[in-house]
Amino acid sequence: MAKGTIGVTSDNIFPVIKKFLYSDHEIFLRELVSNAIDATQKLKTLAAVGEFKGELGDLTVRIDLNKKKKTVTIADRGVGMTADEIDRYINQIAFSGAEEFLEKYKNDTQAIIGHFGLGFYSSFMVAEKVEIRTKSYKEDAPATVWTCKGDPVYAMEETQKDGRGTDIVLHIDKENEEFLDETRIENLLKKYCRFLPIEIAFGKQKEWKDGKETETEKDRIMNNTHPLWTHKPAELKEEDYQQFYRELYPMSDDPLFHIHLNVDYPFHLTGVLYFPKIKSNIDLHRNRIQLYSNQVFVTDSVEGVVPEYLTLLHGVIDSPDIPLNVSRSYLQSDSSVKKIANYITKKVADQLSDIFKKDRAQFEEKWDDLKIFIQYGMLSDEKFYERALKFALLKNVDGKYFTLDEYKTLVKENQKDKENRLIYLYTSNKEEQYGYIEQAKNKGYDVLVMDGQLDVHFIGQQEQKADKIQFVRVDSDTVDKLIRKDDAPTVALNDEQRTALSTVFESQLPTMDKINFIVTLEQLSPTSNPVLITQNEFMRRMKDMSTMQGGMMSFYGEMPDSYNLVLNTAHPLIEKLLKDEESKLDEKITPIAAEIKSIESKRAELNGKNKGKKDEEIPTADKSEAEELQKKIDALTNEKKELYRRYASENQQVGQLIDLALLANNLLKGEALAKFVKRSVDML
Ligand code: ADP
Ligand code: MG
Repeated sequence: MAKGTIGVTSDNIFPVIKKFLYSDHEIFLRELVSNAIDATQKLKTLAAVGEFKGELGDLTVRIDLNKKKKTVTIADRGVGMTADEIDRYINQIAFSGAEEFLEKYKNDTQAIIGHFGLGFYSSFMVAEKVEIRTKSYKEDAPATVWTCKGDPVYAMEETQKDGRGTDIVLHIDKENEEFLDETRIENLLKKYCRFLPIEIAFGKQKEWKDGKETETEKDRIMNNTHPLWTHKPAELKEEDYQQFYRELYPMSDDPLFHIHLNVDYPFHLTGVLYFPKIKSNIDLHRNRIQLYSNQVFVTDSVEGVVPEYLTLLHGVIDSPDIPLNVSRSYLQSDSSVKKIANYITKKVADQLSDIFKKDRAQFEEKWDDLKIFIQYGMLSDEKFYERALKFALLKNVDGKYFTLDEYKTLVKENQKDKENRLIYLYTSNKEEQYGYIEQAKNKGYDVLVMDGQLDVHFIGQQEQKADKIQFVRVDSDTVDKLIRKDDAPTVALNDEQRTALSTVFESQLPTMDKINFIVTLEQLSPTSNPVLITQNEFMRRMKDMSTMQGGMMSFYGEMPDSYNLVLNTAHPLIEKLLKDEESKLDEKITPIAAEIKSIESKRAELNGKNKGKKDEEIPTADKSEAEELQKKIDALTNEKKELYRRYASENQQVGQLIDLALLANNLLKGEALAKFVKRSVDML
């Protein structure tokens, strides 16, 4: 029996393996099964070129679990190894500066394992003893058994073995007995080995017989050796892609469409990406793109390999050229990875533009689901932005779709303001802003639906990039002022009438938490609503942005929502109300107003006398007189206000008009709503 020391420069690599690779113990199975597959494929290649002339026979890789002996065995019928090869490939593992390296990458287990060909040695993460029983395909090569107990000393001797190939027997240690569980192994095989190119058998197929589950004679094969992406696109039908999607993500809705990736130069990459149907945010992150290397599952975190906005897609990418075993930061700077990312972006853009050109109806039908991907891409990738300008769509409230160019043409005539800007009107909620949409449409304007998660950002980007385009929400002003063509008609009321209307309505405004109202008067059309609520576009965007970003912007978030309560002075109800108020209050108001006026003129006189004087030069008597006059004015103004207030509170119409406007904006709630209902009934 030969004995020796494993050729690592580090004193003892095993404690290091156990220590640093702790979190990822399960990958031992992936490594050992991959080795078995490699050995099998090597044999197939040798047979194909005529170097191996024997029978290939059954090449199935078999995983065996023995709970009593506490072993897991991975057996293949591949090339096997001669004693000499074990010495070369197993004993003398190329490993220099091991500790330094491990220290550097201790948080990146993938890097350690792959980089230094530690694949086989990962078995020591779970086993206290590992046996290799192997017989080379080479004629007359005796079988060899190699054993090692997780220290640098190994033993090697000749043995008896039926047939060619390699059995790796792992004697699972105490801490890792979880790997003696059938379900655990089954799940690992499903995770890592699902699409490996050689059949992998784990136990026997089971079937239900006489109400009992019994084993059959047939092998239970764990993998699909010819996954869809290994076929040529020409061989595949749409149904095959749908089928494969269900295989990948069993519980999900059918995808919108797929993109088959297939390149040989300057790198190898195959795969299929799907645009999924997204129903909620949770869906977005549940299913992910899976990354394979020659059909071995590597990871489902593809950040760095795939442009960020495309990580929302589903599917698989298989490339032996992605340096999988390096750190993420390295990945992002790797030039072939950059090329791959560019290739994927281009393919995705090509595909979208293709469908758009060939089948616009289908594209429009799927737009609502596609929108988030396309907008995300436009916002985060300049190259994609340029491409997407041709097929990104806008949708209006009538469900019609337009490209950006088409829309510009549509509204060019009618929606230019006096500063020559194109105003794109939009709604963020068709139901809530129904009234405003109707008004805008009646005026001949078009209204877009912008209710997507990224629309706010998309709007910002369009305003910034496209010349002279501004988005304005339909409820951000009265319809005549949404697109300012010329100066709005002035309100034909005198000062006292203005004060009367404003004060009457102000006095009946509800007090709401974090909501302010400013009463304004406008001469709108007599057919517009008598009272309207609008919210300034700029203020609303600031608030929206602050809720999204927090931090610096949270100042705006703290501010109350500010709405305009617009009184339409041309509306018959408002005209009637003003007349009614005048007929009831004029008698009392007129003398008060006259008195205020006379005091004001006295004060003006006094001010004129002392004009241009510094504070200390004004006589004390004049100062105290001015103060007296101001006090009188204040008192009279209050008296007047009190009259208006009392009038307003006794006039049910005022509250009713305000409530109707609130109701139209979804702002009437709770007690206020109940009061409104009661008042409405009373008024009937
Ligand atoms: P890698 O697979 O990256 O070469 P491993 O540590 O996984 O590194 O394996 C080291 C070498 O041992 C392989 O390259 C191969 O030559 C040999 N080997 C491992 N497992 C087998 C096997 N099941 N059959 C034949 N040779 C094997
Ligand atoms: Mg390997």
